[in-house]
Amino acid sequence: MKIAILGAGISGLSLARFLIEGGVPAQSLHILEADSRIGGLCQSKTVEGFTYDVAGGHILYSKDTSVLNWMIEATGGMGAFEKKQRNTRIRFEHRWVNYPFENGLGDLPPQANFDCLSGYVRAWHKRMVDRSSAPRDFGAWVRWRFGEGIAQHFMDPYNAKVWKRELDFITSDWVAGRVPDAPVEDVLRSSVGIRTEGYTHQSIFYYPRQGGFQAIADGIASTLHARVRLRTPVTEIVQTKGGWKVNGEDFDLVVNTLPLTDLPRIIQGLPAAVADAMRTLEYNGLVSILVALERREHPDLSWIYLPHEVQGPTNRVTYMSNYSPLLAPKGKSSFLCEVTIPGGSPYPGGELEGDVLAGLVAAGLLRRDEVLFTDRTNIRHAYVVFDHRYAERREAIFGWMDEVGLITLGRFGRFEYDNSDQCVIRAKALAQELIPRLQRG
Ligand SMILES: Cc1cc2nc3c(=O)[nH]c(=O)nc-3n(C[C@H](O)[C@H](O)[C@H](O)COP(=O)(O)OP(=O)(O)OC[C@H]3O[C@@H](n4cnc5c(N)ncnc54)[C@H](O)[C@@H]3O)c2cc1C
Repeated sequence: MKIAILGAGISGLSLARFLIEGGVPAQSLHILEADSRIGGLCQSKTVEGFTYDVAGGHILYSKDTSVLNWMIEATGGMGAFEKKQRNTRIRFEHRWVNYPFENGLGDLPPQANFDCLSGYVRAWHKRMVDRSSAPRDFGAWVRWRFGEGIAQHFMDPYNAKVWKRELDFITSDWVAGRVPDAPVEDVLRSSVGIRTEGYTHQSIFYYPRQGGFQAIADGIASTLHARVRLRTPVTEIVQTKGGWKVNGEDFDLVVNTLPLTDLPRIIQGLPAAVADAMRTLEYNGLVSILVALERREHPDLSWIYLPHEVQGPTNRVTYMSNYSPLLAPKGKSSFLCEVTIPGGSPYPGGELEGDVLAGLVAAGLLRRDEVLFTDRTNIRHAYVVFDHRYAERREAIFGWMDEVGLITLGRFGRFEYDNSDQCVIRAKALAQELIPRLQRG
């Protein structure tokens, strides 16, 4: 059996590791990667001693402890990690508001606190009386769930920055299981100033001591180097009688982790309806901007959200150098700013850095004279956008893939809002499914 794994991101690398751990001969695996480095969205970059994650700030946490431990072990064990307590805030004018927003109402100016609380209670009461189910439009869902005050003061402006679309263009499907419901008592407590904690599933996280999040991909790949072909873009996939030809080379089995939107120009003979479904999947790209700072002092924060337009185009800032002292030179610190762009649109020019810095200054986060330099990475696929035709398109795509036996995995190979641990969970499940099949020959 000769198996091609397309892409050396965390999904492709983990799949290869699980297959080998399950007894599949390593020589039968061939990982084809376009880039000159492994890691995909988990890559990190170091510039003048400052390290940052290229696809926005990443942290390691998982509800699946066996997968979490597997990722930690692959990276060199717990000693290779910093264990951190999540400390996140929302920047609201010049105040720090506890995160999630509904757990921080008491930090707001009095009028905004009142607007948010009264809206929340009205929405909660209406849900209790109507027993209504969650609306499918995201904008309507925000009001159903949080009420008008939280919508206007936080959710609308923040989500407009992230999604770059009208909120009802998006469905509420992606929030299921992602936005835990705060008990109404917690929201009441937070409004009168009693601290409550939300999103406890990620309150502790891990981060590699050295090398950025990339260290995890490097750890997983450490036994796979002979199997990875770097600088090998997949440009053509053709189905043959017994399997597939990838770039003209025969394989018995192919596992794709490339973005589905790229496949119409790579797979030959794709049915028009499937090609159309792939091409029209909605997504957002990302510009990640490292801001290297002269100063040492940094509030002890993990990351913050910037919901307002005056704070510039950035929606999230990671206090990168707080994750590990080895991410910045001694006595210096760094921010990592994320700016989303609609998928497939041109990347903003050099003026973006100026706008980002001006926004951070307006938000009271830095002074211009503290900035040593900025560095940017453009990311083509960052966020899946769950529009109203998302499910229908995926059904057409996966129906055809199942029919022809083309396996697909990964955040953009499946177009799922998956974190790296979920990619590993899916890779493990796929390996468990494939191993008996491969052993039968
Ligand atoms: C803003 C942001 C924040 C995130 N935060 C977190 C977090 O805090 N914690 C966490 O665990 N996860 C986080 N994630 C998710 C995590 O980055 C992804 O789930 C994971 O990296 C996806 O891995 P993958 O292998 O599925 O895809 P990718 O990493 O995209 O890998 C696909 C690979 O295919 C390669 N490729 C593409 N085209 C070709 C071609 N034609 N030929 C050959 N190779 C090709 C690419 O170069 C890449 O290496 C975040 C993601 C984003 C965007």
